[in-house]
Amino acid sequence: MDTPISGSVYVAPSLSTALDALHEGGSAAAPFAGGTWIMRAPIRHEQLKSRYVAIGKIPELHTIKVDADAVEIGAAVTHAALATALAELGEFDVLTAAAGHSANPAIRTMATIGGNLATTAFAAADCVPALLCLDAEVEIASRDDRERTSLEQFLTMRSTLAPGRLLHRIIVPRRDRKTVHARLPLRRAGDYPTAIVSLAMILDDAGLVETARIAVGSVEPVARRWGRLETALIGHPLNAAKAAEAAAELADEFAGRDAADVPGWYRVRVLPGLVRRAVAALGS
Ligand SMILES: Cc1cc2nc3c(=O)[nH]c(=O)nc-3n(C[C@H](O)[C@H](O)[C@H](O)COP(=O)(O)OP(=O)(O)OC[C@H]3O[C@@H](n4cnc5c(N)ncnc54)[C@H](O)[C@@H]3O)c2cc1C
Repeated sequence: MDTPISGSVYVAPSLSTALDALHEGGSAAAPFAGGTWIMRAPIRHEQLKSRYVAIGKIPELHTIKVDADAVEIGAAVTHAALATALAELGEFDVLTAAAGHSANPAIRTMATIGGNLATTAFAAADCVPALLCLDAEVEIASRDDRERTSLEQFLTMRSTLAPGRLLHRIIVPRRDRKTVHARLPLRRAGDYPTAIVSLAMILDDAGLVETARIAVGSVEPVARRWGRLETALIGHPLNAAKAAEAAAELADEFAGRDAADVPGWYRVRVLPGLVRRAVAALGS
């Protein structure tokens, strides 16, 4: 097996030193968070960067701030820490499940939410669809400025993010909503999910769907909202069978990605079943 190319790792003690180091390293440098994706670069036959700036020791990137209007999550918060912190907040069930059921327990203590969102080539990232359905925004930091943008927009620009920039934190608005994360691994724990459906619904006083957010992950190279299915569910009561029927009618808009584990058509085929499971869980 090829041995990884040797390089340098700078362990940044603060956000400002990390941003300085990334700025100076330019395109040769990248953040190193949990390392769970980076460590597998040789398996994917990818070149490692020659400089990594480790961000795991920066206290402010580990904070989770719960306010009345929003929850702010530092980019280096691990999946395990996130799942624990949000466990009592029902409106975030989707994110608690995404962070708390991804990979396996050992990986979850290392993998970070920032790494999950920033990894361009990782189609099966659990937190991406979960945060899309929660209308999350992200803050990107560089030595000279901070930029806030929607997660949806970030996903379109992350592969061309200028050197020296870092995902700093994730901001999730608080709403009185019901949410759920349905994922289908091929076998059991530890597998990447074949397909993911994340839902967030607000119901009106009559129990009809007032707003719907549905995000699909792992089916296409980048997770995205399923706008036509959202529209189809608005104004109706939660009904798992009807939602699955609508999903079956609309699923042909997805071009499933082929990969060694699963062909693309299969990822699309399982979507109605996942929608059924998710809506049934919301109704219970
Ligand atoms: C066997 C295995 C199975 C897994 N299964 C799943 C799964 O089913 N679902 C799931 O969601 N995850 C899974 N993961 C974990 C996955 O690797 C992480 O969720 C995540 O994608 C990487 O987070 P990290 O902190 O380890 O990132 P790293 O490996 O440190 O970095 C990954 C990439 O993101 C960049 N990066 C990291 N942090 C930032 C930042 N703050 N700003 C800008 N760029 C940044 C790095 O430069 C690098 O390019 C699995 C991991 C393994 C090893």
